[in-house]
Amino acid sequence: MTSIDVLVVGAGPAGSVAAMVLARAGLRVRLVDRARFPRHKLCGDTINPGSLAVLDRLAAADAPVPSAADRVRRHGLVITGMTVTGPGGATVTADYPAGVNGIAMTRRDLDAVLLDAAIAAGAIVDEQVPVSGPVFDGNGRVAGAQIGVRGSDLELRARIVIAADGRASKLASACRLSRFAPRPRRWAFGAYFSDVAGLTSRGEMHIRANGYVGVAPLPGGIANVCVVRELDSAEARRAAVRGTDPARLVREAIDGDPPLRERFRLARQVSPVATLGPLAIDSRRPGCAGLLMAGDAAGFVDPMTGDGLRFALRGGVLAAEAAIGELATGAPACEALRRARVREFSAKWRINRALRMLVGSRRGVGAAARVAAVWDGPVRYLVAVAGDVALARP
Ligand SMILES: Cc1cc2nc3c(=O)[nH]c(=O)nc-3n(C[C@H](O)[C@H](O)[C@H](O)COP(=O)(O)OP(=O)(O)OC[C@H]3O[C@@H](n4cnc5c(N)ncnc54)[C@H](O)[C@@H]3O)c2cc1C
Repeated sequence: MTSIDVLVVGAGPAGSVAAMVLARAGLRVRLVDRARFPRHKLCGDTINPGSLAVLDRLAAADAPVPSAADRVRRHGLVITGMTVTGPGGATVTADYPAGVNGIAMTRRDLDAVLLDAAIAAGAIVDEQVPVSGPVFDGNGRVAGAQIGVRGSDLELRARIVIAADGRASKLASACRLSRFAPRPRRWAFGAYFSDVAGLTSRGEMHIRANGYVGVAPLPGGIANVCVVRELDSAEARRAAVRGTDPARLVREAIDGDPPLRERFRLARQVSPVATLGPLAIDSRRPGCAGLLMAGDAAGFVDPMTGDGLRFALRGGVLAAEAAIGELATGAPACEALRRARVREFSAKWRINRALRMLVGSRRGVGAAARVAAVWDGPVRYLVAVAGDVALARP
């Protein structure tokens, strides 16, 4: 087998973008994923304005035509802002500034577009390749990944490995770089519905005392519905072994909420309910010798802000640039990647953690809803911040 400069594990947004950037830099890149594409991924399916801006910049850097950004715009639905509701009927609708928008499209489609872009850039892609852990050299440096194929353990070696294998990253946990956060223990339950009344061009976030429900319109008259709940440890264990009836949980979240119940009166669930959790991932460092991390593998706060894709896309670019730097100079890239991520992400992480704490507190949610009922300024500001609007202004 030809020797590989960089092995990227995980062909979600972080991995595909990292592979695209590396291949464009002339490196030999192999991108592996355990799934076969196109594949479903539980997500709110909203590409916020900041994420779209990252894709635009990648297109501008080196443009095969049509670029991934062109294809996303062509196949997705324009999202012009957000509607946020709270308990007691508080409702704030906030549009992004003129010229700024997001896009809604299923992750099945988005991730296939990004994978195509990585292939077009020259990355070698292998699907249905499950990675079971890192391979170390004699000095304790990550030198590749162990591949579990039909019971046998094969190795794929590379000068640098990028872990973009998502929240439950095998590589990050084996190197003790990340773990499920002890608190909060939130779980997500998501499905697609048709015939939901009252959909607009805005994403929706319905925050309640016991969690929240995201609703996003999608092409073809379908709506993405994600219910997020904090589960106690017994409930979480049941959810982990699929003992919880996820379809019932989603139905109860809708039926128990009068404004949503009315809008879903004629709605039909058109996909199985996917379950994911616990959601929060704490990360100590974004890598170690020979290993760099990108996307959810490098930490995840909460889906409520709908900006995980921006962290993933931009995190993929930063990991790729760090790898290019190490291969050119020989200087270890992990610390450079840590600094770059702190520079770009830390202000937003702080806001996201504060919001995560707020929606975890019944009292906090109640107080915020009362303020929003008389003054919508803070919510409008947070919609712009969550959408990474500043990065996307024309
Ligand atoms: C309920 C919910 C709603 C969300 N809504 C939004 C939203 O609307 N907008 C937004 O921007 N973000 C949203 N997010 C966050 C977003 O989904 C993630 O941040 C994003 O998917 C991270 O991308 P990634 O490439 O890091 O990981 P992933 O998208 O998880 O991709 C990881 C890839 O690695 C592969 N993989 C995993 N393990 C292995 C292995 N052992 N071997 C080989 N391959 C492996 C997987 O098959 C997968 O293809 C949401 C998240 C949740 C949970």
